[in-house]
Amino acid sequence: MSRPISVTIHMNALRSNLERVRVTAAGRDIWAVVKANAYGHGLTNAVQAFEKAEGLAVLEVGEAIRARTLGWKKRILLLEGFFEDADIDNLEKYDIETVIHSTWMIDALKRHAPHSKIKCHIKINSGMNRLGFLNFECPEVHAMLESIPGVSVVGVMTHFANAEPTYLADGPATVDKQLARLGRLKQLDGGVCLANSAATLFRPEVGGDSVRAGIVLYGASPDKHISNAELGIRPAMTFAAKIIAVQQIAPGEAVGYGSRWVAKRPSRIAVVACGYADGYPRTMPDGAPTYVEGKIAPLAGAVSMDMLAIDVTDVPEADIGSVVELWGEHILVNDLADYCGTIGYELLCALAPRVPIRISENN
Ligand SMILES: *Cc1c(COP(=O)(O)O)cnc(C)c1O
Repeated sequence: MSRPISVTIHMNALRSNLERVRVTAAGRDIWAVVKANAYGHGLTNAVQAFEKAEGLAVLEVGEAIRARTLGWKKRILLLEGFFEDADIDNLEKYDIETVIHSTWMIDALKRHAPHSKIKCHIKINSGMNRLGFLNFECPEVHAMLESIPGVSVVGVMTHFANAEPTYLADGPATVDKQLARLGRLKQLDGGVCLANSAATLFRPEVGGDSVRAGIVLYGASPDKHISNAELGIRPAMTFAAKIIAVQQIAPGEAVGYGSRWVAKRPSRIAVVACGYADGYPRTMPDGAPTYVEGKIAPLAGAVSMDMLAIDVTDVPEADIGSVVELWGEHILVNDLADYCGTIGYELLCALAPRVPIRISENN
């Protein structure tokens, strides 16, 4: 018998979100970003659902090899490039394109030359100040890479820190400021990749030849102030667990570790088979919503490792065996994340491997 908890991945939602991006991408190629186990949705599912994307973007060589093993024949890009010399052979063997963001990477490629065919994307730091070369360094980096036997430059990339429309117009790193720093690079012929989900949806004018779409494909808005309905996307994941016990408690009784939640009235408390070891944050406060039997039931007390409790006093239909949606169609992951001061991305990625992933083909 398995524990009554699972995530369900809605394959049609993944596919229709990709189609939605296809429209806004307006002729640009789409890299489907599938790092972090496809934002918790399972690489296998993503490889299937995103078969119409032009490429997959991953973080590690291991993920790229898995995608190849799963039958992905189109392009694959390492978003942060390789991390050690030992990865370089695999770039050739599995035809994996790599970002180049630092000179140590160029040195490594030189040391291991000649290569048969390594395709590089030069990463430009246009103001986010994480990875990349400054734009004036780009021609030299380009020349250095092209001088290594078997290495070619196929693209230029940058990443926006704040492409959401609600970001301050006079903030330190607006899209406009970052574009200005990119200068004429953005007009390079072919291989320019600028936009993440937010820029793809909200700043189509940034252009480029391809986009890197992550969160939007999974049906979460990159800007919590802009709804899924406005964007025409649908959550691809339902995280749910069942009620395994119900307690009737008197006013003044407390629930869970630390006795944080205290009953103000005679209360029905349902215990749900999901805890922080499943990826439901322990930092979630009392009152955070769950969805059960068609109604919202608030979290009651600190989340335990393997369980959490909800107040179902006002949901008399909720009982042992009832399915509780933790996030999904009714509890949007971004809205829930807001309760504990984070973003939907983190909750999706933090889903624990012990939670079984099921597939729903039809909805
Ligand atoms: C993760 C990542 C993306 C995808 O970002 P979303 O906001 O999920 O669309 C794009 N580009 C790079 C470099 C990334 O690391």
